[in-house]
Amino acid sequence: MATLDEWLDAYEVVYRALPATAHLPCPNCGHHALRMVFIGPPGAGYGYASFWCDTCLEGIHVSRAPVPAGAAARSIDAPDEERGRGIPNYRLVT
Ligand SMILES: [Zn+2]
Repeated sequence: MATLDEWLDAYEVVYRALPATAHLPCPNCGHHALRMVFIGPPGAGYGYASFWCDTCLEGIHVSRAPVPAGAAARSIDAPDEERGRGIPNYRLVT
C-alpha cells in the first residue's frame, strides 16, 4: 500500500501538470486512473482537492490548495450530488 508521502508526490506531479493530464500511474496500484477535483468558494481561487484512483479507490484530501489556472473548481455551495459528482467514496490515506 502506498504511503501518504507517495500520494503527496503523485499529487504534486498531477497538480503541476494541470490543466493538462499527467500520465502518471497510481502510486498504490499502478493503473492510470488518478483523478483530481477541486471544490471551493466561488471565485476564491483556492479550495480543497480530492485526489484519488478510480481503480483501487484510495486517495487523499488536500485542503486550501490554490486552484491552478484553467482547472475547474466546483462550488462549495453546490448541492451534494453536484459537488460530489463522479467522486467515489474512496479510502483516505493518512
Ligand atoms: Zn490505484
